[in-house]
Amino acid sequence: LIELKGVAKSFRSADGAPRTVLESVDFALQEGEIVALLGKSGSGKSTLLRIMAGLIPADAGRAAYRGQAIGGPVGGIAMVFQSFALFPWLTVQQNVELGLEAQGVPPAERARRADAMLELMGLAGFGGALPRELSGGMRQRVGIARALVTDPDVLLMDEAFSALDVLTGETLRDDILELWDSKRMPTKGMLIVSHNIEEAVMMADRIIILSSDPGRIRSEFRIDLPRPRDADSVEVRGLVDEV
Ligand code: ATP
Ligand code: MG
Repeated sequence: LIELKGVAKSFRSADGAPRTVLESVDFALQEGEIVALLGKSGSGKSTLLRIMAGLIPADAGRAAYRGQAIGGPVGGIAMVFQSFALFPWLTVQQNVELGLEAQGVPPAERARRADAMLELMGLAGFGGALPRELSGGMRQRVGIARALVTDPDVLLMDEAFSALDVLTGETLRDDILELWDSKRMPTKGMLIVSHNIEEAVMMADRIIILSSDPGRIRSEFRIDLPRPRDADSVEVRGLVDEV
């Protein structure tokens, strides 16, 4: 679905000197897989995701979605943010419909599709609420519904659970995995950025690690355990230690 080849990115630091964040990243997201991207704070995980989402350009290398160079936001790729990034003055329904509005989908169909996504995310009946009236977990469900409503092939999740308390984050994570494993997610591939090794081991088919000096994919682990996985099992504990 997504292919990166030699992707590089530098930023200017405050003193004006360029700082290489991504040196040369090679990566492919295949159809049907969940990949977790781990790495220290500042290693460039969010930068890499933004490049894939077409929000910022790479300095060098190639980023492609289904063989087409990514030159800006692409309809097939959607992103979920750690901070939810909802518009506080819009209702839940309006937030979810935004992407459809941008695509010129007529109002009746927008409403129908937004309702379906809110229901999928366990928020049936909350369309008229404002984001501030919802708990953090519910807000992130809105963020995910908004990302999914346009039927993207790829969902990029940037620490989507880390602003939530542990129990809320795990519940949301498990709900998403259940939708994915029962083929009710509209997406065909997911890339999950995390700080949390256990979260990665619980979710992913494959874990990749971005090293920070300078940014390259350092190692890769394949996880062949069937889901749902038990966080306390010997297999999961063993993999957490290994990663
Ligand atoms: P975290 O785990 O804390 O979210 P990260 O791995 O997502 O970290 P990035 O947000 O990708 O890391 O940032 C990588 C480096 O690039 C950091 O040093 C950051 O300060 C720098 N950086 C990111 N975006 C910009 C920007 N727009 N301008 C300047 N520097 C930037
Ligand atoms: Mg980040």
